[in-house]
Amino acid sequence: MVVARHRPTKAIIDTTAITANIKNERARLPQDTALFAVVKANGYGHGAVETARAAANGGATGFCVATIDEGIELREAGIVAPILLLGVVAVSDTPLLATYDFSFPVASQEWLQEAESYLANVALTRPLKVHIKVDTGMGRIGFLDAQAVAEAASWVEAHEAFEWEGVFTHFSTADQADTAYWQQQHLFFQEVLTALPHLPKYIHTGNSATALWHEQAVGNMIRYGIAMYGLNPSGHALAAPFELKPALSLVSALIQVKLLEKGSGIGYGETYITPQQEWIGTVPIGYADGWLRKMQGFSVLVEGEYCEIVGRVCMDQLMIRLPREMPVGTKVTLIGENQGQQITMQDVADQLDTIHYEVACTLSSRVPREYKS
Ligand SMILES: *Cc1c(COP(=O)(O)O)cnc(C)c1O
Repeated sequence: MVVARHRPTKAIIDTTAITANIKNERARLPQDTALFAVVKANGYGHGAVETARAAANGGATGFCVATIDEGIELREAGIVAPILLLGVVAVSDTPLLATYDFSFPVASQEWLQEAESYLANVALTRPLKVHIKVDTGMGRIGFLDAQAVAEAASWVEAHEAFEWEGVFTHFSTADQADTAYWQQQHLFFQEVLTALPHLPKYIHTGNSATALWHEQAVGNMIRYGIAMYGLNPSGHALAAPFELKPALSLVSALIQVKLLEKGSGIGYGETYITPQQEWIGTVPIGYADGWLRKMQGFSVLVEGEYCEIVGRVCMDQLMIRLPREMPVGTKVTLIGENQGQQITMQDVADQLDTIHYEVACTLSSRVPREYKS
């Protein structure tokens, strides 16, 4: 989708907040623990390259992305720091991993064998940097038992096309108050480590939640994602050990303001009918921007006051009830602060019955990202 630059709707990303969120975590880590900033999915909607740079300023030593293409975007922007892919890659893409110097997860012995036969006829520019992924209870990707992990490690070390760089796992409940399942995964991973012939350069378990609430168990590297954007990985459940500064605000402006008589229908299906004479403002943002139809009934901030979204959210516009006449061009804050009042990404997530991760990723490419430093 083409970026709508000629419209007052934009996401403003405060890169100093990202730098601070990284610095504050960095300060809690032992000196020799690596911090990889997770900038997958376009930096959780915040912009991958710009947030990676802000993270590097705060002390990030590497980056994680989900896909090869996301990694290439960083390399093409001139980022030379280590990059770890988080998803399984196709064997036929291994030459790209070498070309761009990406580390990547290996999640099964079959993958290694398939890669070996594929690479029999392919010359690589450098050995492939393998992080062996252990499925300790997430049920997503990875080896399922300690013996298999140890065998894979030995196999990788015996093959010249590969370099064994890391071993890692992912916790599914590190953001919850009940730690029983987390403990189970943790103990399993410890067993896996004990069964290894020796330890590789990187041992890592920590997403943001693990880094914040189980810091004793992260190994010597963390994969720090949502918290770098200033969002609490647990939602409402647990308090973060330091203040997380939200980086993203979403703003727009009134493009029309009108006084409607009592009984006027607003929006498709006239689901709102003015109960009295009302000032109604129109805002140029809609579900094509990621401001979904379920946001009907939620409020936005104008001149420090909460104004309800009335009628259905349209594809490109929505209507709000104003407390009084306001000039066209008046700033509208959908996420962030406005004259001392605040709407958080978490508030939006609550309205949508989801998590802020999803809200951030849902903001579409039509919304320009503007960087403030
Ligand atoms: C996305 C992801 C992370 C980052 O998780 P946050 O909760 O955003 O910190 C870490 N590790 C893996 C494997 C991931 O997929």
